[in-house]
Amino acid sequence: IPNRFTGATVVVTGAGSGIGKATATRLLAEGARVIASDLDADRLATLVAESGEAPLLTIVGDVSDDAVIAQIVEAGEGRITGLVNNAGIMDSFVPTAEIDDALWERVMRINVTAPMKLMRAVLPAMVEAGHGRIVNVASEASIRAGASGTPYATSKHAVVGLTKSTALFYGPAGVRVNAVAPGAVATNIEASFRSELGAQRLGPIMQATVPAPATAEQLAASITWLLSEDSANVNGVLLLSDGGWSTI
Ligand code: NAD
Repeated sequence: IPNRFTGATVVVTGAGSGIGKATATRLLAEGARVIASDLDADRLATLVAESGEAPLLTIVGDVSDDAVIAQIVEAGEGRITGLVNNAGIMDSFVPTAEIDDALWERVMRINVTAPMKLMRAVLPAMVEAGHGRIVNVASEASIRAGASGTPYATSKHAVVGLTKSTALFYGPAGVRVNAVAPGAVATNIEASFRSELGAQRLGPIMQATVPAPATAEQLAASITWLLSEDSANVNGVLLLSDGGWSTI
């Protein structure tokens, strides 16, 4: 493993599980100081236990909550150099006529509004430093409808607009903002939605096309590449890390 992140302080949301946990772990292994946020205190405690002496700070709470965002920024002590907006939730594979307001608002709040608010909170210090690296975790559902229900697909398409627009405005100030689109990844996300519905509605389409699930570590490799200086000339892209699913 290289050591690309000495001196970096990187915020990772949803760091208690799956892609976020693998990303936080990889960043710590490569010398970063990590501020890990998650709703789930037990998962963060496990991450701490597994990380030994590595410089890891944890913030328990909902990243769409302004008070939690303020705590994250405070923990950064003005030195946040990177942000991975990873926390996200699925819908229940619902089509438009079946969307209830609570689900729509929750998916938008966590998948779109929270990343906007976190970027808004960390950008001023990055601009002042003339350096910042942001990765938003999008999805295969950012480019196709056959990977989720309508709320999630809408939210993940929005993440691409949020990424490109922020990249445009802040690129000249030394801040690169990119998104990564995982295909299917073996994580705990399925526990957050009723997959029987998905199996009924999209199962036949997905089964015919989805490659075997990737590992969270493979996604962490793509995310940390975008955070690293090897992606120096890359800004405002949606990097598909989907094992080729999009080619079908
Ligand atoms: P996961 O459920 O394994 O982990 C997500 C973590 O985020 C959990 O520990 C959860 O407690 C935390 N979290 C959820 N809402 C939160 C909130 N409001 N505040 C703080 N923490 C919160 O999921 P994952 O598969 O690792 O998903 C990570 C990201 O990857 C999500 O944005 C998801 O949409 C995206 N993604 C996943 C897949 C996949 O197949 N797993 C595919 C495409 C995109």
